[in-house]
Amino acid sequence: MSNCAIVGINWGDEGKGRMVDLVTEEYDVVVRYQGGGNAGHTVINERGKFALHLLPSGIFRDGVVNILGNGVALDCENLWAEICDVAKNGISVTPENLKISDRASLLMPWHRDLDELEEARLKDKKYGSTKQGIAPFYSDKYQKKTILCGELLYPEKLMAHIRDIMEWKNLTLKNVYGAPEYTQEMIEKWITDYCDKIKPYICDTGAYLKSAVAEGKKILFEAQLGSLRDLDYGIYPYTTSSNTLAAYAPIGSGAPFVRINDVIGVVKAYSTCVGEGPFVCEMFGDEAEKLRSRGFEYGAKTGRPRRVGPLDIVATRYGTELQGATEIALTKLDVLSYMEKIPVCTSYIVDGVETDAFPFPTVLYDAKPKIEYLDGFMCDISGIRKWEDLPENARKYVLFIEERIGCKIKYISVGPERDSIIIR
Ligand code: GDP
Repeated sequence: MSNCAIVGINWGDEGKGRMVDLVTEEYDVVVRYQGGGNAGHTVINERGKFALHLLPSGIFRDGVVNILGNGVALDCENLWAEICDVAKNGISVTPENLKISDRASLLMPWHRDLDELEEARLKDKKYGSTKQGIAPFYSDKYQKKTILCGELLYPEKLMAHIRDIMEWKNLTLKNVYGAPEYTQEMIEKWITDYCDKIKPYICDTGAYLKSAVAEGKKILFEAQLGSLRDLDYGIYPYTTSSNTLAAYAPIGSGAPFVRINDVIGVVKAYSTCVGEGPFVCEMFGDEAEKLRSRGFEYGAKTGRPRRVGPLDIVATRYGTELQGATEIALTKLDVLSYMEKIPVCTSYIVDGVETDAFPFPTVLYDAKPKIEYLDGFMCDISGIRKWEDLPENARKYVLFIEERIGCKIKYISVGPERDSIIIR
């Protein structure tokens, strides 16, 4: 049986959610293995329009088991809000279709405070955090100063562990930032209000995945963000604080023994980037505003306008290699239908020298994009479902990208709905 990972190739927001929603039909289990509620997938299907932050996108399919693995930043407050939100549209989330790893660490209320306090301290040098507490969470995890979800099942030991960590955390809140301290009562209330709600979903997801593999079930791994946000290989320090690569999926899911057969890398037909940091292919002015509004490029979590640019071949090839992508899904091709000439960033110029290798992060600030133009297709392609029916210039654009990045483009998405897809 083959397992698959769906991952972002660029800076995130490539349309992974719509791809997972499309292919979950063929899978029994969908696993989120990293990140937290800091980004969002938008999924539009026959049950409605949803902005998912933590819930795996398989939650809309009957019979699919969804897992939040140990690599995830488990934010009970956001997760509970999301469970209640999808319930309004008739999607019931039960311990049968959602399983939370007992080894996932809990994102604590002070993680959000610390994120906000540190961004405020940095002022104009801020990282552009979504202030969901992700960076403080992962640093605490590496310091072994978090609480595992499974500890909620042992309340008699839980409070003693929380008290120890809280005492340490209050030192930072008070002495570094001059912020209010946490009390035991505040944490007890947080546990009752949110953690207790998610307790029924907590289990040993590693054991579940082990038996799922033994029974020949097919597993889909769903990533958040994209290659260039990977903590180790991305545009550090403007990365996220976890590993967004497919290679991390087995570790972050609870099943390090699982082999991934297929990696679907999701690439948007143009580039977008949220927050600060180098973005070599960035467009500005009217040209940028037009692309942003056509593509509706505003953050799913924050509503922030995204930075936009043409497709960046240098970054996309690098991202494709990092992910070990076996095939590509190219999304939002329909958005380019207004362009007479489609710009593509084909290489970078660094110190007057042209390169197609993705530079070391420090060098990115000095890189300039080399832009080439392909003829536009100038018509509405959102109703097209077959490769042969695409206008010739649209096919040429797809083949140009495929050839330059060296990976087969199997899926071409021409609209946000589940069936707005061309499969080659
Ligand atoms: P993700 O985090 O990678 O899932 O990406 P987002 O959900 O942040 O961004 C993708 C956005 O584009 C969502 O609003 C989708 O509904 C929308 N979308 C996805 N594919 C297409 C497409 O092919 N065409 C259009 N017009 N919109 C799309």
